[in-house]
Amino acid sequence: MIGEWLPYLIVIGMIGVFLVLPTYVKLTWRERKARKLREASIAAGRNEPATIRPLVDPLRCMGSGACVKICPEHVLGIIGGQATVVKGASCVGHGACAAVCPVDAIQLVFGSERRGIDIPDVATNFETNVPGLYIAGELGGMGLIANAVEQGKQAAEFALDDDRPKHREAVDLLVIGAGPAGLGAGLRALELGATYKILDQDEFGGAIRHYPRQKLVMTRPMDLPGYGKLMLHTARKEELIEHLEKAVAKTGLKIEEFQRVEHILPSPECFLVQTTTAEFVARRVILAIGRRGSPRKLGCPGEDLEKVAYRLVDAEKYSYQHILVVGGGDSAVEAAVSLGEQPGNRVTLSYRGKDINRPKEDNLKRLQAAVAAGTVDLKLESTVERIDLDRAVLKHHGELLTLPNDFVFVFAGGVLPIQLLTDAGIEIERHHGKKKVKLKRAKPSRKGP
Ligand SMILES: Cc1cc2nc3c(=O)[nH]c(=O)nc-3n(C[C@H](O)[C@H](O)[C@H](O)COP(=O)(O)OP(=O)(O)OC[C@H]3O[C@@H](n4cnc5c(N)ncnc54)[C@H](O)[C@@H]3O)c2cc1C
Repeated sequence: MIGEWLPYLIVIGMIGVFLVLPTYVKLTWRERKARKLREASIAAGRNEPATIRPLVDPLRCMGSGACVKICPEHVLGIIGGQATVVKGASCVGHGACAAVCPVDAIQLVFGSERRGIDIPDVATNFETNVPGLYIAGELGGMGLIANAVEQGKQAAEFALDDDRPKHREAVDLLVIGAGPAGLGAGLRALELGATYKILDQDEFGGAIRHYPRQKLVMTRPMDLPGYGKLMLHTARKEELIEHLEKAVAKTGLKIEEFQRVEHILPSPECFLVQTTTAEFVARRVILAIGRRGSPRKLGCPGEDLEKVAYRLVDAEKYSYQHILVVGGGDSAVEAAVSLGEQPGNRVTLSYRGKDINRPKEDNLKRLQAAVAAGTVDLKLESTVERIDLDRAVLKHHGELLTLPNDFVFVFAGGVLPIQLLTDAGIEIERHHGKKKVKLKRAKPSRKGP
């Protein structure tokens, strides 16, 4: 009897071995790899996200692995049959993981239990708690060029769709900030035939203008209304700026540069927007001012000296100098390494933390190589005590350390322009993952029109 069935049993057994075994081995290997990555990033302090991160709902996740495959930064892995954050610090927030999840188990959240992130209260249509006042781009918490352009476009569509009463002198839309988000909003408003104004305190282009010379920008294709699709994945800073300039020239987009907005005063009908030199009236306003307008200061004596800067565009301009770089993120590391590569420079990188673990892996490797080669002197657990004309004084492991100094570059991040936001009545929340705490009950300090 068994003999009759034996060939069938052997075939079934072989199918099992050839189909199930490889899958089992693959899953075990995938899980082991994810666990290793997670352990390594926890040990290196790199599992804590800088701002945004995926939060996986364990009751919904079925371990399809779609999120793991799609993430170019390898933030997620499958552990115990479920998606798990294995390299939190690498998350840049493009949200592809949430978009591909077949069971909607992933939500993008800001901050973590330990690290709170302040974000203005913004609805899914980008409108703040102040009717007619919208926020797009990095100010709303979501960084990256292509995201900012897309948000700007969408915010303009929502804003122009809102039927506030028309004030006789008001333009349909006023956009504050002409970085990627502001340009996206302005180009869309122009395409829709609306009356608009775009103001920027600087030249247009936003943070991109201030990237280091020849920086390799990682991005994804984006559509600039009236100009066309930019099929870019990587580009040099200069190439990207050239595209933005061509888009502005081709569409005839009008941007008022060097107009710093100081107050946004809402009224039921419109907004009065005051810059340092002029006033504008608008039916709706999009705030696209990013987060880098106001660099975080060290607050030490001598910080107001001319030799102290908060950005570095061209490292090649500095040679045979004593330079202090302060910070522990990508910008600080890139600046220290590139300054250290110039002839004759003596570069010290000062960071208050015990270890530098926030930058991207490539930058960490470049830093390690620079420290090993002696082109960057890394002083961990150090703070700047004072800056004088020809020296800088650090407190390092409790001792004062005086360094000869010609230039100081500080990269301590940007502060939210709280005053501008709260004056306009915008509420701000501190995000700790899923938990949110309202920070201010904002009231405009001045009366609108
Ligand atoms: C060094 C560095 C490298 C980066 N590399 C990449 C990368 O490779 N790929 C990527 O996708 N992203 C990268 N980013 C992030 C990206 O640049 C930002 O996420 C993006 O520029 C955000 O666009 P935004 O329009 O929201 O803000 P911003 O680009 O910051 O633009 C804001 C604009 O508002 C203006 N503004 C501010 N305050 C006022 C005011 N009161 N009145 C008038 N105007 C005002 C500013 O002058 C600025 O032009 C990088 C950022 C930095 C700093």
